[in-house]
Amino acid sequence: MKSPAGSRRAGRVRARARAAEHVAVPAAARKAAKPAGKPADFAAQLIAWQRRHGRNDLPWQNTRDAYRIWLSEIMLQQTQVGTVIPYYRTFLEHFPDVASLAAADLNAVLRLWSGLGYYSRARNLHRAANALVAVHGGAFPRGREALEALPGVGRSTAAAIVAFAFRRSEAILDGNVRRVLARHFAVAGFPGDAKVAAKLWTLAESLLPARGIARYTQALMDLGATVCTRKPSCERCPVRASCRARAEGATASYPWPRPRRSVPVRETRMLLLVSQGRLLLEKRAAAGIWGGLWCFPEIGIEEEAAAVCEARFGLRAADVEHLPVLPHSFTHFTLRIHPVACRVADGERVADGGATAWMTLQDAAADAIPVPVRKLLDRLPAALLDAADKAGG
Ligand code: SF4
Repeated sequence: MKSPAGSRRAGRVRARARAAEHVAVPAAARKAAKPAGKPADFAAQLIAWQRRHGRNDLPWQNTRDAYRIWLSEIMLQQTQVGTVIPYYRTFLEHFPDVASLAAADLNAVLRLWSGLGYYSRARNLHRAANALVAVHGGAFPRGREALEALPGVGRSTAAAIVAFAFRRSEAILDGNVRRVLARHFAVAGFPGDAKVAAKLWTLAESLLPARGIARYTQALMDLGATVCTRKPSCERCPVRASCRARAEGATASYPWPRPRRSVPVRETRMLLLVSQGRLLLEKRAAAGIWGGLWCFPEIGIEEEAAAVCEARFGLRAADVEHLPVLPHSFTHFTLRIHPVACRVADGERVADGGATAWMTLQDAAADAIPVPVRKLLDRLPAALLDAADKAGG
C-alpha cells in the first residue's frame, strides 16, 4: 500500500505527464482508446458514406468549372451553405466567368456581396480575376501552388479547387476538417498553433485515397458540416469505430480551444446626418476595415458631433440624438459604435459625388454597406427623416 506522500507524488507525476501530452481526458480512458484505423480504411469509409449520405446537389457541385468552384469555396469561407446559395446564384448571373468579373467595377462586386460579410473576400476575388486574366489568359492554373499565388486563395482553398476541378490529389484542411481530424486522431493542441497545424497537414496528406479524390474531399467537408459538428452526432458517423476521441469519451475536448486572451475593445462614433430625407455616406478607403464600402462618417469618440459637423462639412446640426451603442465583433477586436443622429438643414453644402453621397434609406440599403451600417439604418428614428423633410433644407 502506498503512503499518503507516495500517492501525492504519483499524482503529481501523472499530472505532469498529462500536461506534457496536452490531453485533457482521463488517463484511464486514454489507455483504453484504440489507435485510429488504417488510413486507407478512413478514406474508403468516408467515400462510401458520402455516396449515400453526403450532399450531392448543391449549386456548385456536379461541375468541373474551376471558376464556379473557386467562387463557392470563397463564399463558403466562414459562411453557412444556406446563406451562400442565393448570393452564389445572383453573383453568377451577373458575373458568369472570370472575364466578366475581371471587367466589372469593384463597387458592383461589393454591392452583390453586401450582407455576406468579410468583404476582403470580394475585393480579393476581383483582384484574383484580374490576375487570372493578366497572367493566365483567363484560365485557371491546374497546380495548387499556382492557385495559392492568387489573392485570397489559401492552401486549403487551392487544394479544394484542384481536387474538384482537375481531380488533383491534394489535401484540404479548413476549419471543419481540422475539427474532424483533431477528434478522430485525438490531436492535442490548438490547431491555430503552427506546430499543431503542421501535424494536421501531414495527417491530412497521409489519408488521401489513391482514387476518388473529389468525393473524398466532399465527404470530409460533409462530415464536418453535418455530423462531426460542434456537438457531434457520432452515432451517424462512418468512421466512429476508429475515432479516438469517441473511444476516450472526449469528443468535447477536441480540437483544443484557442488559449484564452482578452479581446481588445475599440470605440468609435458615427454620424447619421439627415438632410431632406437623405443620409450622408462616405466611401471608405480601399485599405482597412470595410474598404471600398459606403459608411457613415466616423469621428473620434471624444469629439462632439455638432462641432465636427461644422468643422468638417460646414453643416449646422440640429436635433442631435445619441442612439444606443452598437457592438460589432471582428476576429481580433470588438468595435463599439456610438451612433449620433442629427438633422442638418444645409446639406447641399456637401458635394454629392466622389467619396460622399446623399442617399435615401432605400438607396443606402441597396448599396455596398457593411453589416453595422445596415443595422443602424434599421434603427434610425423615423421622426428624424420626417422632420428633415419638413425642414426642407
Ligand atoms: S465519431 Fe464522432 S467525434 Fe469521431 S469523427 Fe465521427 S462524429 Fe467526429
